[in-house]
Amino acid sequence: MPFDSRPSVSPDDGLVLVEPFPERSSLSKESRAKAVNDNKALGMTELGRASGITAVVFRNRLVNNGPGAVEQLTNAVIHELAHAKSGLDDTMHNANPNGILGKEGGSVGRNFIDSDARWLSDHLGKQIVFEMKHFAGAS
Ligand SMILES: [Zn+2]
Repeated sequence: MPFDSRPSVSPDDGLVLVEPFPERSSLSKESRAKAVNDNKALGMTELGRASGITAVVFRNRLVNNGPGAVEQLTNAVIHELAHAKSGLDDTMHNANPNGILGKEGGSVGRNFIDSDARWLSDHLGKQIVFEMKHFAGAS
């Protein structure tokens, strides 16, 4: 069976890809460039894509092994999933400043806290919003 780099994803799915590095990620060209330039970003979520994968985490930006490695990966995946499911951009960080959903949520040593759990329970059931894009020249 051939590898499908763009599996179909329903709005109810919450899918986060862990990709090797941002330069060759499945993000749009614009988001890829943004992720490459922001070398502190552990992942990125594209809101309002027409279809497909919206959230990714970059493996080369994570601690590879040792203390905190598994927790960091888990926290980064949950962080991007929360962006995708809530449909919120960086404003999500402001609502959750101290836990893993905050701006520095992927940092080693950050812990999943009660406010993260409440936010997730409010948003995980939401559908991801896919939007039709209009391209110049399309008829
Ligand atoms: Zn974020």
